[in-house]
This record gives sequence, structure tokens and C-alpha cells, in this order.
Amino acid sequence: MLGRDRVNTFKKIYKMIKKYNTIVLARHIGPDPDALGSTLGLKEIINYTFPNKSVYAVGAPASKHKYFGTLDELPSNTEDSLLIVLDTPNINRIDGINLKNFKEVIKIDHHPFVEKFGNIELVDETSSSACQLVMELVFNTKLKLNKSAAEKLYMGLIGDTNRFLYSYTTTKTFDLVSSLIKETKIDFTSLYENMYIKSLKEVRFQSYVIMNLIVTENGLGYIKLDQELLDELEVDVATATNAVNGLSYIDEIYVWVIFAYDKQNDNIRVSIRSRGPIINEVATHFNGGGHMYASGARIKDFEVADEFIKELDEVCKQYKN
Ligand code: AMP
Repeated sequence: MLGRDRVNTFKKIYKMIKKYNTIVLARHIGPDPDALGSTLGLKEIINYTFPNKSVYAVGAPASKHKYFGTLDELPSNTEDSLLIVLDTPNINRIDGINLKNFKEVIKIDHHPFVEKFGNIELVDETSSSACQLVMELVFNTKLKLNKSAAEKLYMGLIGDTNRFLYSYTTTKTFDLVSSLIKETKIDFTSLYENMYIKSLKEVRFQSYVIMNLIVTENGLGYIKLDQELLDELEVDVATATNAVNGLSYIDEIYVWVIFAYDKQNDNIRVSIRSRGPIINEVATHFNGGGHMYASGARIKDFEVADEFIKELDEVCKQYKN
């Protein structure tokens, strides 16, 4: 049973969607499957329910996840439009949007709360993913789900839970996914090919990371990758930091982190994962953020990386003790 506040929030979101002719959907910078699945999935749901509305899913594309489909250009005049921001806890992290250019804003997010920026906010840290929140919204309103939207939501949820592996996978997650599959009959196993196919180059890169990971006595695993190394191994920065997802469940490691130089932005992209210690406080200290066990940041250079490593190592030490 859902609480009355939750039901009211769903109702308010539905009403607001119904009210607007033009709706823009946005999400965080550097999109992952959950960010893409929730925006592109909700776009299709709104189009399917209200065929006369103009709906745009915007933001820079991510070549790694192009199987989600194409993104839209932001329309030139949005003064009378509704903006829905998904999977993003703070204004700075929204990709390519100025909130002031919209009439009203809805936020749908599952990150720890950072700041309020929506007229309506559906924020639930216990939800596995933004896609799970969209599923819940659809099943509790008159919004209608089609097969293609269901596939996108499924892939987003699978991405953020790492195939139901992480602890914020709950009975609610399984209930919603079960309803989604029953209602739309998606062939969910066929979706994994797109999500998990890798080039041999990428797999070889992952073995480089595993072979060269430095592990402290407190259980921190880390690696620093400069441009020379990325060129030599023929991987881009997104692929490099994505390797962090392949390092779970190593007995000697509680927290693991990849630092990779980002040529385009001239800074270091940081991806961190944990199987115990809480890491998002350290990430926030370095102007990043994220979840308790999956966080990220952007830092100036590898000197700052050394300070980052010290703080993460301290968190591991405290956890161990
Ligand atoms: P990633 O390692 O890029 O998959 O990100 C893991 C989590 O950390 C996601 O929830 C991101 O939204 C968050 N995150 C990644 N980079 C940043 C950043 N620069 N600032 C704030 N949060 C971030």
C-alpha cells in the first residue's frame, strides 16, 4: 500500500503533465542507462498517453548507450513549457538546461536529497533507480505504458541495480518489474546484448586495470590513468571510468576508484564504488556526489587525486575497524 503523500504526489505530477502542451525532459551530465531510460522512457509514455503533446528528451548524447535512441534538440522557446528533471539531485548537474526558461518544474530522483528546485518533487532515496520511480508513477496514474518505453525503463533499472545485485533492490523493485513484464511482454533477456556487449579492446583494458590496481592495507583499490596510458590502451575516458563496475566483490577491497584524465574538459573524471564504507560524503568533499555506494566527481589534477585517495583510505580504515 502506498502512503497518502505518495499517491498525492503521483496525482499532482499526472495533472501537471496533462496541463502542458510542451514538455521537456532533462537529466544529469554524463548520462548512464538510468538517466537515459527514465527520460526517453517517460517521453514515450507521455507521447503514448497524450499523442498531441510535443515532448522533447534533451541533453548531450552518450555514444556508449546509443541503443536507447536519439535525443532531441531543445526547442527555442520554452517559456510556457513544463520541465521534468530525472535522476538529478542538484541544478549544477542538469545537462544543458536553464531552469528559469520554464514555467514549472518537476523533479523525479532517487539520489540523496541535495537541493529543492522543482514545483513538485518526487525524491526517494530508497528507490533503486529513477526508472523505478517512473514505473511507480505509471502504475499509479492514468499514464499508459507501451512496449518500447517499458524496455527503456527496464534497461535503466538493470543498469542502476547492476542486474538486481545492489542492496537498494527491494521487493518493490521486483513487484514493479514483474508488473512491467506482465503488462508489456517485453523480451527482457534480449536487451542484455546491447547493454553488455564489449569490444575486445575494452575487455583487455579491464584486465589492465585489474592487473595494475594498487590496493592499500585498509582495502582501497585505486588506479590513475593519464592521457598517454589511455591512448596506449585505446580507450576513451567514459570507457575507462566505466571499468569501475567490473571490480565488485574482491575480498581484499572495500572501496575502489578509477581516476582518468578527460582531455575534452582538461580535468580528471573520478568513479568510485564501495561494498561497505559510505563514499558519497568524500565525493561531496571534492565537489562531486552520488549514492552511498556509487559516487563520482571531477577534480583538477592527479595531485588532488592523492588527497582523494587519502580520504577514501581513511573511510576504509574506519569501516575495517
Ligand atoms: P559514475 O561513477 O559516473 O557511474 O557515477 C556514479 C554516481 O555518482 C551517479 O549517481 C552520478 O550521478 C554521481 N556522480 C558522478 N559524477 C558526479 C559529479 N561530478 N558530481 C556529482 N555526482 C556525480
